[in-house]
Amino acid sequence: MVNANVRVRFCPSPTGNPHVGLVRTALFNWAYARHHQGTLVFRIEDTDAARDSEESYEQLLDSMRWLGLDWDEGPAPFDTATGHGDGGPHGPYRQSQRMDIYRDVADKLLAGGYAYPCYCTTEELDARRDAARAAGRPSGYDGHCRDLTAEQKTAYETEGRTHIVRFRMPDETITFTDLVRGELTFTPDNVPDYGIVRANGAPLYTLVNPVDDALMEITHILRGEDLLSSTPRQIALYKALIELGLAKAVPQFGHLPYVMGEGNKKLSKRDPQSSLNLYRERGFLPEGLLNYLSLLGWSYSADQDVFTMPEMVERFDLADVNANPARFDLKKAEAINADHIRMLDVKTFTEACGPWLEAPHANWAPEDFDQSAWEAIAPYAQTRLTVLSDITANVDFLFREEPVDDEASWQKAMKEGAADLLRTARAKLETADWNSADSLKAAVLAAGEEHGLKLGKAQAPVRVAVTGRTVGLPLFESLQILGKDRTLPRIDRALTKLAGQPLLP
Ligand code: GLU
Ligand code: ZN
Repeated sequence: MVNANVRVRFCPSPTGNPHVGLVRTALFNWAYARHHQGTLVFRIEDTDAARDSEESYEQLLDSMRWLGLDWDEGPAPFDTATGHGDGGPHGPYRQSQRMDIYRDVADKLLAGGYAYPCYCTTEELDARRDAARAAGRPSGYDGHCRDLTAEQKTAYETEGRTHIVRFRMPDETITFTDLVRGELTFTPDNVPDYGIVRANGAPLYTLVNPVDDALMEITHILRGEDLLSSTPRQIALYKALIELGLAKAVPQFGHLPYVMGEGNKKLSKRDPQSSLNLYRERGFLPEGLLNYLSLLGWSYSADQDVFTMPEMVERFDLADVNANPARFDLKKAEAINADHIRMLDVKTFTEACGPWLEAPHANWAPEDFDQSAWEAIAPYAQTRLTVLSDITANVDFLFREEPVDDEASWQKAMKEGAADLLRTARAKLETADWNSADSLKAAVLAAGEEHGLKLGKAQAPVRVAVTGRTVGLPLFESLQILGKDRTLPRIDRALTKLAGQPLLP
């Protein structure tokens, strides 16, 4: 059932490079919004000037645009041509531009008694925490400043103490139904009063994140399991905001499962495997990567794990999100990406490869690129690539004066007898019908037979002589596209090289 009132948000902090865990969160929010024809709010949580950067902010926008995860309200357009996603009724969408709002809310919380100034010094807090631990009591904040009188506060101020602002947690058990995990209960002992404003007046994540969710009327909060411990605090804050007339309702929460990397450890931001840019640079298609990431905690159906984003949107339901940790499996990600490469129409594929046919990837002179040869070979590449960046090595033989010198390939293919085989193959290719790949194949097959070699063994030296590598696209089509007048000299060149060196048996 569609619910157009759904308002979800993606609210990253612009620190460092986007990582796959972040993308998974963005994707699930996006899919939920699109499934319900609701609204995706894109908010930038940049209140930590020491860690946030403009560069990282730009990267977040760029990543979302590349992935095609469009937002409806945000700090900048998703689509610069149409302006879609720029601004909205609850802006600004960068927290660094909302400081007045937070100051105002903090004042209201203080005035209403929902929060209070805490004058404890770090040393005092540490000493009392250690004592509580030693006595086996809960070691969170002990409520020392909860009920200071006006005189006590003045005394502290006169002493020259600064204060933070703490939220007063109600002395009650908090229960909520997590959309992924079911009913969860937190007792007051586990959730002490927490800081919401620093001594220097800077609001903390604990305040700004739920305040914005309230003001932006977010209905569903889908985020990583690592944030679960902040949820009871936020629910309590929400209730205060409702009483203050600042929030309409407590949103529903769904905590997405952890993503595990190598060795059963949580995939960390610092893991090279987790960098979104890495996948982009390797030539993952956005839809291939998103398809894979959607499987980290969700499944499309029992027997189908390759699907398009519209198909995902159609089926996406939080009821199907699994609470168990999900394992990040690079091989599977690649296999799914390969399937998406196959699904492109050939023109789209040809264009998608563009960046890898240019500097800095291309290892040929730009003027030697041959568009018609590329278009001829592209369909063969499309059925074999796992990631688009592999295209460069697969087609460079067409655009280079001479094939690359890959010593390992040479050693592997040019065994004893390679020269004889190449000589025979060259003679037969000379008279073959170059309009037919089958004819070229028959030529190499016949050459192999003369030397007691099966086709596979016979074609290896030919492939290395012509392309420089032992692996590549279908050989005979490759030869045909390269053409007779470029293929035969390469075999000659290999023969010259072979003549000068002893070969291994
Ligand atoms: N900015 C927070 C983060 O990146 C968002 C947390 C949340 O989704 O509530 O961790
Ligand atoms: Zn205190």
